Amino acid sequence: MSLSDLPAPIRPADPSSDPAGWRLEHSYAQLPALFHVAVAPTPVRAPRLVVLNRPLAESLGLSSNPLADDEETAALFAGNRLPPGSVPLAQAYAGHQYGHFTTLGDGRAILLGEQITPRGERFDIQLKGSGPTPFSRRGDGRAALGPMLREYIISEAMHALGVPTTRSLAVAATGEDVWRQSSLPGAVLTRVAASHIRVGTFEWAAARGDEAALRALVAYTVRRHFPELAEAGNLPQALLVAVIERQASLVAQWLRIGFVHGVMNTDNMALSGETIDYGPCAFMDAYDPATVFSSIDAHGRYAYGNQARIAQWNLARLAEALLPVLHVEKQPALALANEAIAGFTARFQHHWLAGMRRKLGLFTEEPQDEGLIETLLAWMLKTKADFTNTFAALALDMRPDPTVRDDPEFIQWHADWLARLSRQSQDAAESEALRRAHNPAFIPRNHHVEAVLGAANEGDLRAMERLLEILVAPYDHTRHAPEYRLPNAAGGADYRTFCGT
Ligand code: AMP
Ligand code: MG
Repeated sequence: MSLSDLPAPIRPADPSSDPAGWRLEHSYAQLPALFHVAVAPTPVRAPRLVVLNRPLAESLGLSSNPLADDEETAALFAGNRLPPGSVPLAQAYAGHQYGHFTTLGDGRAILLGEQITPRGERFDIQLKGSGPTPFSRRGDGRAALGPMLREYIISEAMHALGVPTTRSLAVAATGEDVWRQSSLPGAVLTRVAASHIRVGTFEWAAARGDEAALRALVAYTVRRHFPELAEAGNLPQALLVAVIERQASLVAQWLRIGFVHGVMNTDNMALSGETIDYGPCAFMDAYDPATVFSSIDAHGRYAYGNQARIAQWNLARLAEALLPVLHVEKQPALALANEAIAGFTARFQHHWLAGMRRKLGLFTEEPQDEGLIETLLAWMLKTKADFTNTFAALALDMRPDPTVRDDPEFIQWHADWLARLSRQSQDAAESEALRRAHNPAFIPRNHHVEAVLGAANEGDLRAMERLLEILVAPYDHTRHAPEYRLPNAAGGADYRTFCGT
Protein backbone atom coordinates (compact mmCIF):
# COMPACT_ATOMS: atom_id res chain seq x y z
CA MET A 1 0.00 0.00 0.00
CA SER A 2 1.58 3.26 -1.07
CA LEU A 3 0.81 6.76 0.01
CA SER A 4 -0.60 7.51 -3.42
CA ASP A 5 -3.51 5.23 -2.55
CA LEU A 6 -4.64 7.66 0.11
CA PRO A 7 -7.27 10.24 -0.61
CA ALA A 8 -6.24 13.86 -0.20
CA PRO A 9 -5.19 14.51 3.39
CA ILE A 10 -7.94 15.13 5.88
CA ARG A 11 -7.43 18.77 6.80
CA PRO A 12 -7.73 20.18 10.28
CA ALA A 13 -10.70 22.44 10.88
CA ASP A 14 -10.56 25.78 9.13
CA PRO A 15 -11.80 28.57 11.28
CA SER A 16 -15.18 29.19 9.76
CA SER A 17 -17.17 32.34 9.49
CA ASP A 18 -20.48 30.48 9.56
CA PRO A 19 -22.42 31.84 12.54
CA ALA A 20 -24.10 28.49 13.29
CA GLY A 21 -20.70 26.77 13.38
CA TRP A 22 -20.98 24.52 10.35
CA ARG A 23 -17.58 23.31 9.14
CA LEU A 24 -18.32 20.65 6.60
CA GLU A 25 -15.68 18.68 4.74
CA HIS A 26 -16.05 15.94 2.17
CA SER A 27 -13.28 13.36 2.44
CA TYR A 28 -15.63 10.45 1.58
CA ALA A 29 -16.57 12.17 -1.69
CA GLN A 30 -12.93 11.86 -2.75
CA LEU A 31 -13.18 8.07 -2.85
CA PRO A 32 -13.61 6.53 -6.32
CA ALA A 33 -16.91 7.31 -8.02
CA LEU A 34 -18.41 3.85 -7.50
CA PHE A 35 -18.87 4.64 -3.80
CA HIS A 36 -21.25 7.61 -4.11
CA VAL A 37 -23.80 9.47 -6.19
CA ALA A 38 -24.54 13.18 -5.86
CA VAL A 39 -28.15 13.70 -4.84
CA ALA A 40 -29.90 16.40 -2.84
CA PRO A 41 -32.68 16.02 -0.27
CA THR A 42 -36.19 16.53 -1.63
CA PRO A 43 -37.87 19.48 0.11
CA VAL A 44 -40.94 18.73 2.20
CA ARG A 45 -44.22 20.57 2.58
CA ALA A 46 -44.25 21.84 6.16
CA PRO A 47 -41.07 21.30 8.21
CA ARG A 48 -41.50 21.37 11.96
CA LEU A 49 -38.79 20.69 14.53
CA VAL A 50 -39.84 17.85 16.85
CA VAL A 51 -36.68 17.36 18.90
CA LEU A 52 -33.19 18.88 18.86
CA ASN A 53 -30.25 17.43 20.78
CA ARG A 54 -28.67 20.59 22.15
CA PRO A 55 -25.76 18.98 24.04
CA LEU A 56 -24.81 17.07 20.89
CA ALA A 57 -25.18 20.20 18.74
CA GLU A 58 -22.82 21.99 21.09
CA SER A 59 -20.23 19.22 21.07
CA LEU A 60 -20.31 19.37 17.26
CA GLY A 61 -19.53 23.09 17.43
CA LEU A 62 -23.02 24.11 16.35
CA SER A 63 -23.97 27.04 18.52
CA SER A 64 -27.54 26.67 19.73
CA ASN A 65 -28.23 30.38 19.22
CA PRO A 66 -28.35 30.50 15.44
CA LEU A 67 -30.01 27.08 15.63
CA ALA A 68 -32.72 28.54 17.83
CA ASP A 69 -34.70 30.24 15.07
CA ASP A 70 -37.35 27.56 14.84
CA GLU A 71 -38.37 28.00 11.26
CA GLU A 72 -34.81 28.01 9.93
CA THR A 73 -33.84 25.08 12.13
CA ALA A 74 -36.85 23.05 11.05
CA ALA A 75 -36.05 23.77 7.39
CA LEU A 76 -32.47 22.68 7.99
CA PHE A 77 -33.27 19.37 9.68
CA ALA A 78 -36.06 18.53 7.22
CA GLY A 79 -33.69 18.91 4.26
CA ASN A 80 -35.36 22.05 2.87
CA ARG A 81 -32.34 24.24 3.51
CA LEU A 82 -28.81 22.87 3.27
CA PRO A 83 -26.18 23.92 5.79
CA PRO A 84 -23.39 26.04 4.29
CA GLY A 85 -20.69 23.97 2.63
CA SER A 86 -22.75 20.81 2.22
CA VAL A 87 -22.23 18.59 -0.82
CA PRO A 88 -25.04 16.04 -0.52
CA LEU A 89 -24.55 12.47 -1.71
CA ALA A 90 -25.93 8.97 -1.30
CA GLN A 91 -23.48 6.19 -0.49
CA ALA A 92 -23.33 2.98 -2.49
CA TYR A 93 -22.94 -0.33 -0.69
CA ALA A 94 -23.93 -3.96 -0.83
CA GLY A 95 -24.63 -6.36 1.98
CA HIS A 96 -25.76 -9.74 3.16
CA GLN A 97 -29.34 -9.47 4.41
CA TYR A 98 -30.40 -12.54 6.39
CA GLY A 99 -27.50 -14.34 4.77
CA HIS A 100 -28.26 -13.34 1.17
CA PHE A 101 -26.03 -11.03 -0.84
CA THR A 102 -27.66 -8.00 -2.42
CA THR A 103 -26.70 -4.54 -3.65
CA LEU A 104 -28.21 -1.71 -1.66
CA GLY A 105 -27.01 1.87 -1.11
CA ASP A 106 -28.62 4.77 0.74
CA GLY A 107 -32.22 4.47 -0.39
CA ARG A 108 -33.54 7.09 1.98
CA ALA A 109 -30.46 8.72 3.48
CA ILE A 110 -28.27 11.56 2.25
CA LEU A 111 -24.85 12.53 3.58
CA LEU A 112 -24.49 16.32 3.82
CA GLY A 113 -20.82 16.24 4.72
CA GLU A 114 -18.45 15.68 7.61
CA GLN A 115 -18.62 18.18 10.44
CA ILE A 116 -15.24 19.07 11.95
CA THR A 117 -15.78 19.68 15.65
CA PRO A 118 -13.92 22.27 17.72
CA ARG A 119 -11.81 19.35 19.02
CA GLY A 120 -10.88 18.39 15.47
CA GLU A 121 -13.02 15.24 15.29
CA ARG A 122 -14.86 14.34 12.09
CA PHE A 123 -18.52 13.23 12.10
CA ASP A 124 -20.82 12.36 9.23
CA ILE A 125 -23.98 14.47 9.19
CA GLN A 126 -26.64 12.42 7.45
CA LEU A 127 -30.34 13.01 6.85
CA LYS A 128 -32.48 9.87 7.00
CA GLY A 129 -35.91 9.94 5.35
CA SER A 130 -34.92 12.89 3.14
CA GLY A 131 -36.34 11.64 -0.14
CA PRO A 132 -35.52 9.24 -2.95
CA THR A 133 -32.03 8.51 -4.27
CA PRO A 134 -30.80 6.36 -7.17
CA PHE A 135 -30.72 3.49 -4.62
CA SER A 136 -34.36 3.76 -3.51
CA ARG A 137 -35.57 0.90 -5.69
CA ARG A 138 -39.32 0.79 -5.02
CA GLY A 139 -39.08 2.68 -1.72
CA ASP A 140 -40.29 6.23 -1.24
CA GLY A 141 -37.08 7.48 0.38
CA ARG A 142 -39.10 8.61 3.35
CA ALA A 143 -39.47 7.67 7.01
CA ALA A 144 -42.31 7.79 9.52
CA LEU A 145 -42.13 9.89 12.67
CA GLY A 146 -42.45 6.95 15.10
CA PRO A 147 -39.41 4.97 13.88
CA MET A 148 -37.26 8.12 13.65
CA LEU A 149 -38.10 9.08 17.23
CA ARG A 150 -37.45 5.47 18.18
CA GLU A 151 -33.95 5.71 16.70
CA TYR A 152 -33.45 9.04 18.49
CA ILE A 153 -34.46 7.62 21.88
CA ILE A 154 -32.58 4.33 21.68
CA SER A 155 -29.37 5.69 20.14
CA GLU A 156 -29.19 8.41 22.78
CA ALA A 157 -29.89 5.81 25.50
CA MET A 158 -27.07 3.65 24.12
CA HIS A 159 -24.73 6.62 24.19
CA ALA A 160 -25.60 7.34 27.82
CA LEU A 161 -25.11 3.64 28.62
CA GLY A 162 -21.53 4.00 27.35
CA VAL A 163 -21.91 1.90 24.20
CA PRO A 164 -20.30 3.16 20.97
CA THR A 165 -23.12 4.31 18.72
CA THR A 166 -24.24 6.66 16.01
CA ARG A 167 -26.19 9.52 17.53
CA SER A 168 -29.25 11.59 16.77
CA LEU A 169 -29.06 15.35 16.38
CA ALA A 170 -32.65 16.16 15.47
CA VAL A 171 -35.97 14.90 14.23
CA ALA A 172 -38.09 17.16 12.03
CA ALA A 173 -41.64 16.39 10.97
CA THR A 174 -42.26 16.87 7.25
CA GLY A 175 -45.95 17.79 7.24
CA GLU A 176 -46.39 14.98 4.71
CA ASP A 177 -47.80 11.53 5.27
CA VAL A 178 -46.04 8.29 4.42
CA TRP A 179 -47.88 5.09 3.62
CA ARG A 180 -46.85 2.08 5.74
CA GLN A 181 -49.90 -0.24 5.75
CA SER A 182 -51.62 2.88 7.05
CA SER A 183 -51.01 6.59 6.65
CA LEU A 184 -48.42 7.93 9.13
CA PRO A 185 -46.82 11.32 9.78
CA GLY A 186 -43.47 11.62 8.00
CA ALA A 187 -40.18 12.78 9.53
CA VAL A 188 -36.46 13.22 8.87
CA LEU A 189 -33.78 12.15 11.36
CA THR A 190 -30.34 13.77 11.42
CA ARG A 191 -27.86 11.03 12.22
CA VAL A 192 -24.34 11.75 13.44
CA ALA A 193 -21.79 8.98 12.91
CA ALA A 194 -18.02 8.49 13.08
CA SER A 195 -18.62 7.36 9.49
CA HIS A 196 -21.08 5.29 7.50
CA ILE A 197 -18.46 2.89 6.11
CA ARG A 198 -19.99 -0.57 6.44
CA VAL A 199 -18.88 -4.14 5.88
CA GLY A 200 -21.24 -3.82 2.91
CA THR A 201 -19.18 -0.93 1.50
CA PHE A 202 -16.23 -3.34 1.12
CA GLU A 203 -18.51 -6.03 -0.29
CA TRP A 204 -19.69 -3.51 -2.90
CA ALA A 205 -16.13 -2.79 -4.13
CA ALA A 206 -15.28 -6.51 -4.09
CA ALA A 207 -18.44 -7.45 -6.00
CA ARG A 208 -17.49 -4.95 -8.68
CA GLY A 209 -14.08 -6.58 -8.90
CA ASP A 210 -12.47 -3.18 -8.48
CA GLU A 211 -9.22 -3.82 -6.64
CA ALA A 212 -8.06 -0.21 -6.85
CA ALA A 213 -11.30 0.97 -5.27
CA LEU A 214 -10.93 -1.68 -2.56
CA ARG A 215 -7.40 -0.49 -1.79
CA ALA A 216 -8.56 3.12 -1.69
CA LEU A 217 -11.35 2.18 0.72
CA VAL A 218 -8.93 0.27 2.97
CA ALA A 219 -6.55 3.23 3.07
CA TYR A 220 -9.38 5.67 3.70
CA THR A 221 -10.88 3.59 6.51
CA VAL A 222 -7.51 3.20 8.20
CA ARG A 223 -6.89 6.91 7.95
CA ARG A 224 -10.28 7.78 9.32
CA HIS A 225 -10.73 5.19 12.08
CA PHE A 226 -7.40 3.48 12.74
CA PRO A 227 -4.68 6.09 12.11
CA GLU A 228 -2.35 4.16 14.43
CA LEU A 229 -2.17 1.42 11.76
CA ALA A 230 -0.96 3.72 8.98
CA GLU A 231 2.55 2.24 9.02
CA ALA A 232 1.44 -1.41 9.08
CA GLY A 233 3.21 -3.66 6.58
CA ASN A 234 -0.05 -5.25 5.42
CA LEU A 235 -2.72 -2.56 5.72
CA PRO A 236 -5.77 -4.72 4.80
CA GLN A 237 -4.74 -7.39 7.30
CA ALA A 238 -4.11 -4.83 10.05
CA LEU A 239 -7.49 -3.25 9.34
CA LEU A 240 -9.29 -6.61 9.45
CA VAL A 241 -7.75 -7.55 12.79
CA ALA A 242 -8.53 -4.13 14.28
CA VAL A 243 -12.15 -4.23 13.08
CA ILE A 244 -12.57 -7.71 14.57
CA GLU A 245 -11.35 -6.40 17.92
CA ARG A 246 -13.79 -3.46 17.86
CA GLN A 247 -16.76 -5.63 16.92
CA ALA A 248 -15.90 -8.22 19.59
CA SER A 249 -15.88 -5.42 22.13
CA LEU A 250 -19.08 -3.87 20.78
CA VAL A 251 -21.16 -7.05 20.86
CA ALA A 252 -19.92 -7.82 24.39
CA GLN A 253 -21.23 -4.37 25.39
CA TRP A 254 -24.61 -5.11 23.82
CA LEU A 255 -24.87 -8.33 25.83
CA ARG A 256 -23.89 -6.53 29.03
CA ILE A 257 -27.00 -4.31 28.82
CA GLY A 258 -29.45 -6.77 27.26
CA PHE A 259 -29.54 -5.11 23.83
CA VAL A 260 -30.84 -7.00 20.79
CA HIS A 261 -29.82 -5.23 17.56
CA GLY A 262 -32.33 -7.20 15.54
CA VAL A 263 -31.02 -6.68 12.01
CA MET A 264 -27.30 -7.47 11.96
CA ASN A 265 -27.05 -7.55 8.19
CA THR A 266 -23.55 -6.76 6.91
CA ASP A 267 -24.76 -3.38 5.64
CA ASN A 268 -25.65 -2.56 9.23
CA MET A 269 -22.17 -3.23 10.64
CA ALA A 270 -19.97 -0.13 10.75
CA LEU A 271 -16.19 -0.34 10.47
CA SER A 272 -15.92 2.40 13.10
CA GLY A 273 -17.24 -0.04 15.73
CA GLU A 274 -20.34 2.06 16.41
CA THR A 275 -23.78 0.52 16.77
CA ILE A 276 -25.70 1.54 13.65
CA ASP A 277 -29.19 1.07 12.25
CA TYR A 278 -31.83 1.25 14.95
CA GLY A 279 -34.62 -0.56 13.15
CA PRO A 280 -36.13 -3.50 15.01
CA CYS A 281 -33.76 -3.29 17.99
CA ALA A 282 -35.09 -3.64 21.55
CA PHE A 283 -33.97 -4.41 25.09
CA MET A 284 -34.60 -7.79 26.64
CA ASP A 285 -36.74 -7.93 29.80
CA ALA A 286 -36.62 -11.52 31.13
CA TYR A 287 -33.23 -13.11 30.49
CA ASP A 288 -33.38 -15.54 27.59
CA PRO A 289 -30.65 -15.94 24.96
CA ALA A 290 -33.36 -16.86 22.43
CA THR A 291 -34.97 -13.41 22.73
CA VAL A 292 -36.02 -12.02 19.33
CA PHE A 293 -38.17 -8.96 18.74
CA SER A 294 -38.03 -8.44 14.98
CA SER A 295 -41.24 -9.52 13.30
CA ILE A 296 -39.37 -10.89 10.29
CA ASP A 297 -36.63 -12.78 12.18
CA ALA A 298 -38.64 -16.00 12.25
CA HIS A 299 -35.63 -18.28 12.84
CA GLY A 300 -33.91 -16.18 15.48
CA ARG A 301 -30.86 -15.48 13.33
CA TYR A 302 -30.38 -12.20 15.20
CA ALA A 303 -31.49 -13.40 18.66
CA TYR A 304 -29.79 -11.93 21.75
CA GLY A 305 -27.59 -14.97 22.29
CA ASN A 306 -26.66 -15.33 18.61
CA GLN A 307 -25.17 -11.88 18.17
CA ALA A 308 -21.52 -12.82 18.70
CA ARG A 309 -21.77 -15.67 16.20
CA ILE A 310 -23.44 -13.40 13.65
CA ALA A 311 -20.84 -10.68 14.15
CA GLN A 312 -18.18 -13.27 13.36
CA TRP A 313 -20.14 -14.39 10.30
CA ASN A 314 -20.36 -10.78 9.10
CA LEU A 315 -16.65 -10.26 9.70
CA ALA A 316 -15.98 -13.34 7.58
CA ARG A 317 -17.82 -11.53 4.75
CA LEU A 318 -15.49 -8.55 5.30
CA ALA A 319 -12.47 -10.87 5.19
CA GLU A 320 -13.80 -12.41 1.97
CA ALA A 321 -14.20 -8.99 0.40
CA LEU A 322 -10.62 -8.15 1.37
CA LEU A 323 -9.12 -11.38 -0.05
CA PRO A 324 -7.82 -9.80 -3.29
CA VAL A 325 -5.85 -7.20 -1.34
CA LEU A 326 -4.77 -9.33 1.64
CA HIS A 327 -2.14 -11.12 -0.45
CA VAL A 328 -1.32 -11.38 -4.15
CA GLU A 329 -1.73 -15.15 -3.98
CA LYS A 330 -4.99 -16.81 -3.09
CA GLN A 331 -3.84 -19.41 -0.54
CA PRO A 332 -1.85 -17.05 1.68
CA ALA A 333 -4.71 -14.54 1.46
CA LEU A 334 -7.15 -17.21 2.67
CA ALA A 335 -4.81 -18.21 5.48
CA LEU A 336 -4.57 -14.60 6.69
CA ALA A 337 -8.34 -14.19 6.52
CA ASN A 338 -9.05 -17.43 8.36
CA GLU A 339 -6.54 -16.69 11.08
CA ALA A 340 -8.04 -13.27 11.70
CA ILE A 341 -11.64 -14.54 11.77
CA ALA A 342 -10.75 -17.42 14.10
CA GLY A 343 -9.34 -14.81 16.47
CA PHE A 344 -12.79 -13.28 16.99
CA THR A 345 -13.91 -16.02 19.38
CA ALA A 346 -11.20 -15.38 21.94
CA ARG A 347 -11.50 -11.60 21.59
CA PHE A 348 -15.24 -11.73 22.20
CA GLN A 349 -14.92 -14.15 25.11
CA HIS A 350 -12.33 -11.87 26.69
CA HIS A 351 -14.58 -8.80 26.46
CA TRP A 352 -17.69 -10.67 27.54
CA LEU A 353 -16.01 -12.13 30.60
CA ALA A 354 -14.45 -8.80 31.55
CA GLY A 355 -17.85 -7.11 31.25
CA MET A 356 -19.63 -9.77 33.31
CA ARG A 357 -16.94 -9.63 36.01
CA ARG A 358 -17.55 -5.90 36.30
CA LYS A 359 -21.30 -6.50 36.54
CA LEU A 360 -20.60 -8.75 39.52
CA GLY A 361 -18.13 -6.33 41.08
CA LEU A 362 -15.08 -8.49 40.45
CA PHE A 363 -11.72 -6.79 39.97
CA THR A 364 -9.61 -9.92 39.92
CA GLU A 365 -9.73 -13.03 37.74
CA GLU A 366 -10.31 -16.59 38.87
CA PRO A 367 -10.78 -19.57 36.58
CA GLN A 368 -14.16 -20.36 38.21
CA ASP A 369 -15.59 -16.93 37.37
CA GLU A 370 -17.15 -18.12 34.14
CA GLY A 371 -18.94 -20.88 36.03
CA LEU A 372 -20.20 -18.39 38.61
CA ILE A 373 -21.62 -16.20 35.83
CA GLU A 374 -23.14 -19.10 33.91
CA THR A 375 -24.81 -20.46 37.05
CA LEU A 376 -26.46 -17.10 37.69
CA LEU A 377 -27.60 -16.81 34.06
CA ALA A 378 -28.99 -20.36 34.08
CA TRP A 379 -30.95 -19.55 37.23
CA MET A 380 -32.22 -16.31 35.65
CA LEU A 381 -33.34 -18.21 32.55
CA LYS A 382 -35.16 -20.79 34.65
CA THR A 383 -36.91 -18.21 36.83
CA LYS A 384 -37.53 -15.75 33.95
CA ALA A 385 -35.72 -13.09 35.96
CA ASP A 386 -35.63 -9.58 34.54
CA PHE A 387 -32.10 -9.09 33.19
CA THR A 388 -31.70 -5.40 34.06
CA ASN A 389 -33.44 -5.46 37.43
CA THR A 390 -31.67 -8.61 38.66
CA PHE A 391 -28.25 -7.10 38.03
CA ALA A 392 -29.36 -3.70 39.34
CA ALA A 393 -30.44 -5.39 42.58
CA LEU A 394 -27.15 -7.27 42.84
CA ALA A 395 -25.33 -3.99 42.18
CA LEU A 396 -26.78 -2.66 45.43
CA ASP A 397 -26.31 -6.06 47.07
CA MET A 398 -30.02 -6.62 47.38
CA ARG A 399 -31.88 -9.83 46.69
CA PRO A 400 -33.38 -9.53 43.20
CA ASP A 401 -36.92 -10.21 44.31
CA PRO A 402 -38.51 -11.10 47.67
CA THR A 403 -40.13 -14.14 46.07
CA VAL A 404 -36.76 -15.76 45.40
CA ARG A 405 -35.40 -15.15 48.87
CA ASP A 406 -36.07 -18.75 49.76
CA ASP A 407 -34.94 -20.27 46.48
CA PRO A 408 -32.13 -22.60 47.62
CA GLU A 409 -30.45 -22.35 44.22
CA PHE A 410 -30.20 -18.61 44.48
CA ILE A 411 -29.12 -18.73 48.12
CA GLN A 412 -26.30 -21.10 47.17
CA TRP A 413 -25.23 -18.91 44.27
CA HIS A 414 -25.34 -15.79 46.45
CA ALA A 415 -23.14 -17.46 49.07
CA ASP A 416 -20.64 -18.47 46.37
CA TRP A 417 -20.63 -14.92 45.06
CA LEU A 418 -20.03 -13.41 48.51
CA ALA A 419 -17.21 -15.88 49.07
CA ARG A 420 -15.72 -14.91 45.72
CA LEU A 421 -15.96 -11.21 46.60
CA SER A 422 -14.15 -11.85 49.86
CA ARG A 423 -11.20 -13.32 47.94
CA GLN A 424 -10.30 -9.98 46.35
CA SER A 425 -8.51 -7.20 48.15
CA GLN A 426 -10.96 -4.49 47.07
CA ASP A 427 -13.50 -3.75 49.76
CA ALA A 428 -17.30 -3.91 49.58
CA ALA A 429 -17.68 -0.24 48.72
CA GLU A 430 -15.26 -0.48 45.79
CA SER A 431 -17.03 -3.54 44.47
CA GLU A 432 -20.42 -1.86 44.78
CA ALA A 433 -19.17 1.22 42.92
CA LEU A 434 -17.94 -1.01 40.09
CA ARG A 435 -21.29 -2.80 39.92
CA ARG A 436 -23.26 0.44 39.96
CA ALA A 437 -21.22 1.74 37.04
CA HIS A 438 -21.80 -1.33 34.87
CA ASN A 439 -25.38 -2.32 35.67
CA PRO A 440 -27.93 0.21 34.46
CA ALA A 441 -30.91 1.10 36.63
CA PHE A 442 -32.76 2.41 33.57
CA ILE A 443 -33.00 1.12 30.01
CA PRO A 444 -35.52 2.10 27.32
CA ARG A 445 -38.18 -0.42 28.26
CA ASN A 446 -40.20 -1.48 25.23
CA HIS A 447 -43.62 -0.58 26.64
CA HIS A 448 -42.40 2.89 27.60
CA VAL A 449 -40.91 3.46 24.16
CA GLU A 450 -44.15 2.38 22.50
CA ALA A 451 -46.23 4.57 24.81
CA VAL A 452 -44.19 7.73 24.19
CA LEU A 453 -44.18 7.11 20.42
CA GLY A 454 -47.95 6.70 20.50
CA ALA A 455 -48.32 10.03 22.30
CA ALA A 456 -45.81 11.70 19.94
CA ASN A 457 -47.84 10.52 16.95
CA GLU A 458 -50.78 12.36 18.51
CA GLY A 459 -48.64 15.48 18.88
CA ASP A 460 -47.88 15.11 22.61
CA LEU A 461 -44.11 15.09 23.25
CA ARG A 462 -44.12 15.40 27.04
CA ALA A 463 -43.85 11.67 27.75
CA MET A 464 -40.91 11.38 25.34
CA GLU A 465 -39.13 14.29 26.96
CA ARG A 466 -39.55 12.71 30.38
CA LEU A 467 -38.29 9.36 29.16
CA LEU A 468 -35.26 10.99 27.53
CA GLU A 469 -34.52 12.77 30.77
CA ILE A 470 -34.45 9.42 32.62
CA LEU A 471 -32.36 7.69 29.96
CA VAL A 472 -29.67 10.34 30.00
CA ALA A 473 -28.49 9.02 33.40
CA PRO A 474 -28.99 5.25 33.23
CA TYR A 475 -26.60 4.45 36.08
CA ASP A 476 -28.25 6.77 38.60
CA HIS A 477 -29.36 4.08 41.05
CA THR A 478 -30.48 6.71 43.56
CA ARG A 479 -33.11 8.16 41.25
CA HIS A 480 -36.65 7.45 42.41
CA ALA A 481 -38.57 6.63 39.25
CA PRO A 482 -39.97 3.14 39.90
CA GLU A 483 -42.38 3.25 36.94
CA TYR A 484 -39.39 3.39 34.57
CA ARG A 485 -37.85 0.28 36.09
CA LEU A 486 -40.85 -2.00 35.73
CA PRO A 487 -40.80 -4.55 32.97
CA ASN A 488 -43.95 -4.80 30.90
CA ALA A 489 -46.68 -6.09 33.19
CA ALA A 490 -48.02 -8.19 30.33
CA GLY A 491 -44.69 -10.06 30.11
CA GLY A 492 -43.39 -8.43 26.97
CA ALA A 493 -42.11 -11.62 25.36
CA ASP A 494 -44.58 -11.12 22.52
CA TYR A 495 -43.29 -7.62 21.79
CA ARG A 496 -42.62 -7.24 18.06
CA THR A 497 -40.61 -4.64 16.19
CA PHE A 498 -40.59 -3.88 12.48
CA CYS A 499 -37.82 -3.08 9.98
CA GLY A 500 -37.81 -0.94 6.90
CA THR A 501 -40.27 1.36 8.58
P1 AMP B 1 -32.32 -1.27 6.53
O1 AMP B 1 -33.16 -2.48 6.73
O2 AMP B 1 -32.84 -0.06 7.26
O3 AMP B 1 -30.88 -1.52 6.81
O4 AMP B 1 -32.45 -0.86 5.01
C1 AMP B 1 -32.07 -1.71 3.97
C2 AMP B 1 -32.06 -0.96 2.67
O5 AMP B 1 -33.37 -0.52 2.30
C3 AMP B 1 -31.17 0.27 2.63
O6 AMP B 1 -30.53 0.30 1.39
C4 AMP B 1 -32.16 1.40 2.80
O7 AMP B 1 -31.67 2.59 2.24
C5 AMP B 1 -33.35 0.87 2.03
N1 AMP B 1 -34.63 1.48 2.45
C6 AMP B 1 -35.28 1.28 3.63
N2 AMP B 1 -36.43 1.99 3.67
C7 AMP B 1 -36.51 2.67 2.50
C8 AMP B 1 -37.46 3.59 1.93
N3 AMP B 1 -38.56 3.96 2.58
N4 AMP B 1 -37.20 4.07 0.70
C9 AMP B 1 -36.10 3.71 0.03
N5 AMP B 1 -35.18 2.86 0.50
C10 AMP B 1 -35.37 2.34 1.72
MG1 MG C 1 -29.41 -0.23 7.13
